[in-house]
Amino acid sequence: MTTETKEHIAVTRFREFLRIKTVQPNPDYEGSCVFLEKYAKELGLDYSVVECVPGKPACILTWVGKNPSIPAIMLNCHSDVVPVSAANWTHDPFAADKLENGDIIARGAQDMKCVGIQYLEAIRVMKHQCKQPLRTLHVTFVPDEEVGGQEGMKLFVKMDEFKRLNIGFALDEGLASPGDTYKLFYGERAPWWLTLTARGKAGHGSQFLEPCATIRLIKTLNKFFAFRESEARRLKYGKKENGTAFQLGDVTTTNVTILKAGVQHNVVPEVASAGVDIRVAPTVDLQAFKKQLEDWCAEDGVEIEYVNTFWDNSTTATNDSNVWWTALKSVTDKRNIKLDLEIFPAATDSRYVREIGIPAFGISPMNQTPVLLHDHDEYLNEKVFLTGVDFYVDLLPALADVPN
Ligand SMILES: [Zn+2]
Repeated sequence: MTTETKEHIAVTRFREFLRIKTVQPNPDYEGSCVFLEKYAKELGLDYSVVECVPGKPACILTWVGKNPSIPAIMLNCHSDVVPVSAANWTHDPFAADKLENGDIIARGAQDMKCVGIQYLEAIRVMKHQCKQPLRTLHVTFVPDEEVGGQEGMKLFVKMDEFKRLNIGFALDEGLASPGDTYKLFYGERAPWWLTLTARGKAGHGSQFLEPCATIRLIKTLNKFFAFRESEARRLKYGKKENGTAFQLGDVTTTNVTILKAGVQHNVVPEVASAGVDIRVAPTVDLQAFKKQLEDWCAEDGVEIEYVNTFWDNSTTATNDSNVWWTALKSVTDKRNIKLDLEIFPAATDSRYVREIGIPAFGISPMNQTPVLLHDHDEYLNEKVFLTGVDFYVDLLPALADVPN
């Protein structure tokens, strides 16, 4: 008997999903819908599709609970993956090859097709055990997370079809952990993309022209850089109230990502501009921070434009005031898993869910695994993957049976 024929059904479905090229910028969402509809039939789940915009479907696989009228659980997975530079991979990134040691190599193996299949395979086990949950479970596969979710979750959560799902709590993605722990993300930094524009007098490059657009811009940027430096120091040397070290998600990062001014050496430009990427930590008062930035800009007459700015940085409680936390913690305690509680340093679709007031945790049950999301040779070992299925076999009933 070959390894292939002995393969666990969960691993087979995982590898099949990995082979569907839902890769940006042209994800095969149609292929992924066909796969998921067939999968829903196989598991005896209801299946529906909501188009966030034409051609960008959110697929919903539903197991109706014993009490469908109380708030349901959303188990979210984004169906798209980031592009590959195939020359840097040792295997075809969309073949989902499995090595002898069980490593499955493919784009999306960690981010985050593993999690979507783990939810569904846990449901397969629960169905075999005839464990219909109290609350309805909606497994959602949403488009375009990897390009910011603007035509995915951001729109989906505002649609009537979403409101009808009556979601009370959501699970979404986390990150792999090289140690024994699982990382649990209870909040995210708010991404703020700004354009700063300074104007001045144009003219021949041989004079002292005032005001000078480039000087105005640089003076303002220097204030941003001083703030950047102080946050970098806080990350390096600071400690949280509980005495533990700061993680990246606990501080605010600032980076100038675009600089534009001038066309020719001997012409002083009348406009200079900068693109700035700021990730605002959840402890920051957003309105006060906005005022601070505007004051810095105003001192030198620099204009500020909010290009893509997220105005919510709420977090989900990780204490017994939150019944979903209590349910989750009981499962990780039972399974002897230590959780690292962190703020997600980048952005995921969870922010749109928290923004409309739904509590959400980000967790991808992958320990003893290097963090390879968006990297070459992204892989997940099948044993780790199957342990993750077991984790959800414990976790999903614990969440779905939380009394109303
Ligand atoms: Zn992801």
